[in-house]
Amino acid sequence: MAESLESESRKLLGRLRDTMADEAAGQARLDKITHLTADSMKTEVCSIYLFRDEETLELCATEGLNPEAVHETRMKMGEGLVGRVARTSKIVNTADAPSARGFRYMPETGEEIYSSFLGVPIQRLGEKLGVLVVQSKEQREYTADEIYALEVVAMVLAEMTELGAFVGEGAAMKARHTQAVMFRGGVGQEGGAMGHVWLHEPRVVVTNLVSDDPEAERQRLHEAVDTLRVGVDEMLADAHGDKDQIDVLEAYRMFANSKGWMRRMEEDISRGLSAEAAVEKEQSQARARMQQVTDAYLRDRLHDLDDLSNRLLRILTGQGRETGSDMPSDPILIARNIGPAELLEYGRSLKGVVLEEGSVGSHAAIVARALAIPLVIHADRITNEALNGDQILVDGEQGIVHLRPDDSVVGAFRDKMAMQAKAQERYASIRDKDCVTKDGTRVHLTMNAGLMADLPSLNSSGAEGVGLFRTELQFLLRNQMPKRTELADIYARVLDASGGKRVVFRTLDIGSDKVLPYMKPQDEPNPALGWRAIRVALDRPGVMRMQLQALIRGAKGRPLSIMFPFIAQYEEFVRGRAEVHKVLARERRLGHAVPEKIEIGAMLETPSLAFAPNRFFDEVEFISIGGNDLKQFFFAADRENERVRRRYDTLNVSFLSFLQSIVARCDDTGTHLSFCGEDAGRPIEALCLAAIGIRNLSMRPASIGPVKSLLMRYDLSEVRNVIDTARLQGEQSVRQMVMEYLRNNG
Ligand code: PEP
Ligand code: MG
Repeated sequence: MAESLESESRKLLGRLRDTMADEAAGQARLDKITHLTADSMKTEVCSIYLFRDEETLELCATEGLNPEAVHETRMKMGEGLVGRVARTSKIVNTADAPSARGFRYMPETGEEIYSSFLGVPIQRLGEKLGVLVVQSKEQREYTADEIYALEVVAMVLAEMTELGAFVGEGAAMKARHTQAVMFRGGVGQEGGAMGHVWLHEPRVVVTNLVSDDPEAERQRLHEAVDTLRVGVDEMLADAHGDKDQIDVLEAYRMFANSKGWMRRMEEDISRGLSAEAAVEKEQSQARARMQQVTDAYLRDRLHDLDDLSNRLLRILTGQGRETGSDMPSDPILIARNIGPAELLEYGRSLKGVVLEEGSVGSHAAIVARALAIPLVIHADRITNEALNGDQILVDGEQGIVHLRPDDSVVGAFRDKMAMQAKAQERYASIRDKDCVTKDGTRVHLTMNAGLMADLPSLNSSGAEGVGLFRTELQFLLRNQMPKRTELADIYARVLDASGGKRVVFRTLDIGSDKVLPYMKPQDEPNPALGWRAIRVALDRPGVMRMQLQALIRGAKGRPLSIMFPFIAQYEEFVRGRAEVHKVLARERRLGHAVPEKIEIGAMLETPSLAFAPNRFFDEVEFISIGGNDLKQFFFAADRENERVRRRYDTLNVSFLSFLQSIVARCDDTGTHLSFCGEDAGRPIEALCLAAIGIRNLSMRPASIGPVKSLLMRYDLSEVRNVIDTARLQGEQSVRQMVMEYLRNNG
């Protein structure tokens, strides 16, 4: 790079910094920047286009084009060359703009006389802010050095935007991070919450962008990278063979030692950026790339680079994780993603969680559910928008988040929350009552659990017991296989906390979406139909035996209920049961106390089991319908796939008829039947399940109140009549008619 270009670039950045220090209003600053840039780059035109809204770019300042066009000329994303730069986040460099693909002539600007065009995106950490353009009459392509210089200016512009430099009288832009923004995401856990933002990874604000002393900045960068390397090596030493963690850390190390990365940042510094601005410029470009790559592996690596850049920025700026004491009293956690253990650490102090990524079945979602914290996932770009302390509303019913909401939105949300609170009061008033329907049918409502954190809900919700204890959570939350004594201790504490209420422990249900961090991942074409649950347990009985032993020891002589997941045929149940008896015999031999009574049941999660021989129904002591899995296999619709997840209604007559056939088989054989999928916790679904004869429903604790309240108000035989009539009339789903009946009957 020519020395003169570098010093020219530094001079320009120095002047930009001075405009920042000026007391000038936003528009004056923008005007000055276009003037300085055109002057420094010796081009006739320099223009700044900024986003007015997500789709529209507006000419906000220009040197060389018709000044009257400022704030008048607008274009859509993708429209013209400027729109193309914005849409693709890629540079357009052409000697003959009017002949270039996509060129759109804007008569009001007078730009027809300019032949060459160079446009670079103005973006900050993957967020598109606008486009910076230079144009000249001379027909020529811009050199790599010129492109680079313009990119550096764009970067500084992006940072100045972030710092609110262009806000003020005759403002070119509204202040950022002050406007209300709504995010539409997915529901991870229902419930509503109002509170204030707490960023899991607080954003680092770079205030010193420009430096006159490249040597000193280079030195700072090197020192920071050295500190970073040492930190990564220490983390590697602490990883104790945890394969996933090691993979990520190795990637960190690779980047931290990457010559290309260092070289680019050093070049940025030579151009006049400070060390932190150089890190952020590279980070922004990596984020822009991240949005374009679809390859999962590459995306992960770019994520790693992003994390590493954040660490480096924290080292350089000294801004660290803010201390817990600054956390608002009503924190709503915002993160790109979060691990289950980290979420558990925050625990119930959180009012809500909003993630940019995440999935319904993720471990974080499982933990949020256990803690009954509203969770919204896929809130795209929220970590860019939210600032610590911003007011935020989380609507976990709709998957909607309002950041810095207007007063009217706050008012409406408050009303909604108040209504929910009223409903909660009503539920509390019936908490200790039995759930008896209007026609006198007793329906037992139990809760689903999986963590110690769930157990206080046993009393607060009025659950009659735990109908499903998902034991895999204890395995999923650790970095290594839990020990038998640890598990026995947990199971003992669960039974202590249950105060004699029945707890059904489901044996380890792994595979499919639940992958143990310390088990070799299986490369299966279709994991939901693959090596999972009881199939793994029977093929590798060691873990199941250890768990059965822990359960028996944890019971300390008390009655114990064990349930096998994903039984697809009778023989699997027989083999699972034989394992229990084998372990029992061994425990007796060793002189350990054994449960005074042991019940062995199976989950019915595959349609095949509904057609099992009679002896299965005769021998199994209880059956629990795992509606989540059963429904996905019945309709062949992946429960994790947003596109098809909600496509088929649980109240579809075919599915209800199928469930009824299971009820009939259990009635014939006197087999205890329950339903423990998510649908049991949805009041209308629960009412229909009860109406077709299911007398035990197990659900999230928060659903017990609403379900009980509805069930107690209706006559099951009447609901059953509505279902039968809908079926006779050839309805696809009984939902409409049941809803109508409920409306007509209060
Ligand atoms: C089910 O499949 O309905 C169930 C309760 O089990 P899980 O959701 O844990 O697969
Ligand atoms: Mg299941």
